[in-house]
Amino acid sequence: MLSRPRSTIARVVRAFATLSLAATVAVTSTVSAFAQNVPVVRDAEIEALVRAYARPIFRAAGLPEDGVDIVLVNDQSFNAFVAGSRLFINTGALMSAETPNEIIGVIAHEAGHIAGGHQQKLRNQLERAKTMAIIATLLGAGAMVAGATSKSRGLAGAGMGVAAGGGEMAQRSILAYQRTEEMTADRSAITYLNATGQSGLGMLKTFGRFQSALSLSGAQVDPYRISHPLPRERIANLEVLVKKSPYVEKVDPPALQQRHDMMRIKIAAYMGGQAAASRLMRKMPGSLASQYGDAQTSYLFGNLAGALAKTNALVKAQPKNPYFQELRGDILMKANKPKAAAEAYAKAVSLDPARSGLLPVSYGQALMAVGTPDSLEKAVVQINKGLARDRENAVGYRHLAQAYGELGNIPAADLATAEGHFYSGAYKDAKIFAMRAQMKMKRGEPGWIRAQDIINYAPSSKKK
Ligand SMILES: [Zn+2]
Repeated sequence: MLSRPRSTIARVVRAFATLSLAATVAVTSTVSAFAQNVPVVRDAEIEALVRAYARPIFRAAGLPEDGVDIVLVNDQSFNAFVAGSRLFINTGALMSAETPNEIIGVIAHEAGHIAGGHQQKLRNQLERAKTMAIIATLLGAGAMVAGATSKSRGLAGAGMGVAAGGGEMAQRSILAYQRTEEMTADRSAITYLNATGQSGLGMLKTFGRFQSALSLSGAQVDPYRISHPLPRERIANLEVLVKKSPYVEKVDPPALQQRHDMMRIKIAAYMGGQAAASRLMRKMPGSLASQYGDAQTSYLFGNLAGALAKTNALVKAQPKNPYFQELRGDILMKANKPKAAAEAYAKAVSLDPARSGLLPVSYGQALMAVGTPDSLEKAVVQINKGLARDRENAVGYRHLAQAYGELGNIPAADLATAEGHFYSGAYKDAKIFAMRAQMKMKRGEPGWIRAQDIINYAPSSKKK
């Protein structure tokens, strides 16, 4: 399930029992006000795929490849940025890329900026910053985030400046690279692509389209184009490098292309609705990706019985695909069959090589819906397992608190509520619940210690 915040298309939102913000922790209250509307989406399938794109490139670039966090920003414009171990990428960028290679090329270019030490000061700041603050930056509220540590003009002022137009945004963009840095990053990117036996054509195609002033995503302004200047000679140089590579003709493995197609169709269905998904499906007639889109749109906009039949056919075609099982679980939950849903999610968890933290939480939710004491105990185990893999999943803590509450374990429920507030950036509420939890806990036990950490946390000390 691709889950998203409440603010966007109501029709889609109605399809969700849970809406999740990845990590709503923000640097300041100014950013926090903005963060409430920050569109982060979570999805096990897409996060795993983008991580699979990034990992070999990061390795080739000498960057830490383990535990790369993929942050999906629900914005139709084209953007991608790396801060620390977090790779931020807009759903619009993923949607507009016809092949994995196009996205891999952009990731390689971003890795080139990091390896080149470009904007190191900003990067260091962002590395310490919370996810939401970085997204605010990426979405063009950069002036606001930068100002937050000095004199902020406030949300309205910064937002207005960004909305005023591309030219002004280019000047204000704190992410803007210099032209020489672009050439360096391109060269590094080709090095990483060669090291991993991949073509640079996707990168050339992407940047070539930026240069021709065509928006890749259909958005009025692609922030990526503004922050990465494209002088004429840059594309010419890049073209020479790409064509010199022994891997220029290398195409993406068919299985990877298939996963990419499925991802695009899923984003189209969730973000653009039935029409957007159908448009893409018509380009891939008879493909498994197209069948997947059909099942997704039936689930979101059609009938559940049809969706289930289509998803069962998908499972038959790829019995080891965890995301087909996840979709079965989503459909069965919506059809109010939590027991069958729990079985489907259990399969999804056991099949998932990427060990997503999201799938055990979905499994746990289904177990909670089953509602027997035994299934509630199991739900706690699963949700804790998911949260151990994915510490900042604020929504997961809310489910955990509910499960503990139903089991009558009130101190644990209070601590889980404190964690949920903590990872949402609501530190005051987090402290209140942490103190409540401590009153019923033994001094020094693990829960008590964690509660103490939350009580002691001072957000301002994390800033520099
Ligand atoms: Zn660049």
